[in-house]
Amino acid sequence: MSPKTIISVKDLHKSYGDFKAVQGISFEVFEGEIFGLLGPNGAGKSTTLEIIETLRQKTSGEVIVDGMDLDKSPEAIKKIIGVQLQSSGFYPNLNLTELIHLFVGLYQNKVDAIELLKKVNLEDKAKAKYKELSGGQKQRFSIATTLINNPKIIFLDEPTTGLDPQARRNLWELIKEIRDNGTTVIITTHYMDEAEILCDRVAIVDSGKIISINTPNALIDELVATGFEKVKEVKKANLEDVFIHLTGKEWREE
Ligand code: ADP
Repeated sequence: MSPKTIISVKDLHKSYGDFKAVQGISFEVFEGEIFGLLGPNGAGKSTTLEIIETLRQKTSGEVIVDGMDLDKSPEAIKKIIGVQLQSSGFYPNLNLTELIHLFVGLYQNKVDAIELLKKVNLEDKAKAKYKELSGGQKQRFSIATTLINNPKIIFLDEPTTGLDPQARRNLWELIKEIRDNGTTVIITTHYMDEAEILCDRVAIVDSGKIISINTPNALIDELVATGFEKVKEVKKANLEDVFIHLTGKEWREE
């Protein structure tokens, strides 16, 4: 069965004054996949995603989300997506239940706060203030807030930056679980190991253009087929394996 396209971007351009931040980007995201947008800082990833999220105006191009044209139906698109806010958007002194009620109010949607916290394994933190959470818990909570309106698509912006190896792995499992429950996930990350493990497909963006798009495996095979070889001999384990072996997979700071 061929995959169903849930996001289609065609020839997207965005200029800030004379500066062309996005220069003719086209790609498709398939329903039910984890799609990674990779690229150095300034490549145009956030600009592209914020246009799809209806938060920024494009200069030109076509964006279709779940069959809806961004130019005609931005409000309808907003209803089926969830966008991860940077943590600075949370009130540190409110507890998680209060924060969810605040968000639910914004979405005018009925949500069981405990059910939502259960989805990200934070039900026992329902009465904890946001500022009392560990880094990994804060990230899980911010992912929970993207799920409030039962979205078809969620956008995660560098969700594991600054986390310890245990918390990163735990978050990968959570993101895979969200995908397996039917939500399409779009993610940006600077960690290539993370993209390789987590993403079904990735697009590599540089200077406002997509320079490659495929599954991580196919991209690696393409490079190897050119005769590329790693300079260093690859060992059977790396330092991260040592770290996890010694300190375990269990959550910390709980
Ligand atoms: P990325 O997310 O890949 O780091 P961005 O989309 O944030 O890239 O930025 C792409 C380019 O556009 C960068 O050179 C950035 O400085 C520029 N840019 C982003 N937002 C603005 C803005 N509001 N005004 C002017 N230039 C901007």
